[in-house]
Amino acid sequence: MFSQHAVKREDAAPELVRHSRYPTRLSVYTDAPELEVSIEEFETFALDRLQVLRAIEDAQLRAKGEDDQRRRVGEALDRHLPLHTNRSRLPARQLMAERRKDHVSHFILRLAFSRTEELRSWFLRYECALLKHRFREADAAERQELLAAARLQLAHIPAAERKAMLGPGADFYGAQEALFEVDFERVLDLVARSQVVLRAGKAYVPQTEVAALLAHEFRQRLARALAVCAKALPQLGEDERLVPVLHNLSNQTARREYRSATAAGAVSADSVDSLADGFPLCMQHLHAQLAADRHLRHGGRMQLGLFLKGLGLDMQEALAYWRRAFGAMTDDQFAKGYAYNIRHNYGAEGRRADYAPYSCHRIITTNPPGPGDHHGCPFRHFAPERLRAALHRDRLPDADVREIAALAAAGHYQVACTRHLEARLLRRPGDAQPAAVTSPNQFFDLCSGAAPAAAADSR
Ligand code: SF4
Repeated sequence: MFSQHAVKREDAAPELVRHSRYPTRLSVYTDAPELEVSIEEFETFALDRLQVLRAIEDAQLRAKGEDDQRRRVGEALDRHLPLHTNRSRLPARQLMAERRKDHVSHFILRLAFSRTEELRSWFLRYECALLKHRFREADAAERQELLAAARLQLAHIPAAERKAMLGPGADFYGAQEALFEVDFERVLDLVARSQVVLRAGKAYVPQTEVAALLAHEFRQRLARALAVCAKALPQLGEDERLVPVLHNLSNQTARREYRSATAAGAVSADSVDSLADGFPLCMQHLHAQLAADRHLRHGGRMQLGLFLKGLGLDMQEALAYWRRAFGAMTDDQFAKGYAYNIRHNYGAEGRRADYAPYSCHRIITTNPPGPGDHHGCPFRHFAPERLRAALHRDRLPDADVREIAALAAAGHYQVACTRHLEARLLRRPGDAQPAAVTSPNQFFDLCSGAAPAAAADSR
């Protein structure tokens, strides 16, 4: 702790901080906090960090370009989790408080998000993105401190020695300010993208790519730590103060399952076709293929069937809809091959779970379509030409089609879908900017002006 006298001396602050528990601004969270934390701080700190991670997720979905993304994340950090440098003129007490909050909040969320595979994956993804952002925004000295703290064991190659070590390969790096030697297995993604020169089993990583290396190592260590936390969680089972807070925290990720406010029974088998104009591209495609082939394979039936359920098609109407859509088969074939599955989706068979519509994340990242399949996300799974043709069929102007196709080609699938939604909505004067698309049902509700959705925890 600091004496009152010491804290008031601004010029002494950096010296005090340097000899404190938090001498550097940035951390890779190697050691758990030893400090006492009140239950109020426990929840407030964690919620503030969660706001930052959700802002990163939102920025990745919504930002128009890298500068916009950095601005959005920077604003969220300033608001919820500021971390000032040792050179700032802030009192040492404030610098220490900021670093303590950063440290403690990371470990609380580690515990909260270790509960399931999906939560771990969400937390890993956005903690790595946060570390990368901070590394990129840091000055050279802070970067060196962070690399030292991460013990990445990078051998720095002085500029004067590059030519002798790499021969003509040194020219690949131009005037890069620093170059590091690592075992090539640690940077396989950079090797695959031809971003590094290889020599005798070593890769030479330029300064501009060290953030990727740092994030990779951080991710591996954090994944192991989360697995350890998950095993330790049952020991908290009796703690009536902490467990509800931890559950509440992990229930508040941005990527919650979307539930439409539409009531079951709001849509009939007869009205589905008339609603198709408001479907997102994935559902337009499934709906059109079902009409063309009078059949859909399992992946397509699940994706479209649960989407229609979310729209308000109840079980009896779903059975009528699919029976009519599969017009070429007999009643017996339909009853034996398909009706059970439809009832199962509504919780009337099997383990009687009430299955929810698929989220975009699930559609994009799991069960990719094979030959003859029509499920999936067109922004992710269509070839560029086919995607452009689908967008043109949706009567979008050329400029919008080009922009959306470019976003999809760059891997920003949900951003592309959100632009698709914007392009449609902007046909109507006075429409506000829509939320980022995270679910086909949300797209439909926003497109058709349905009541705002409720969000339910999917975990
Ligand atoms: S982003 Fe989501 S809603 Fe849009 S097409 Fe892909 S899966 Fe469908």
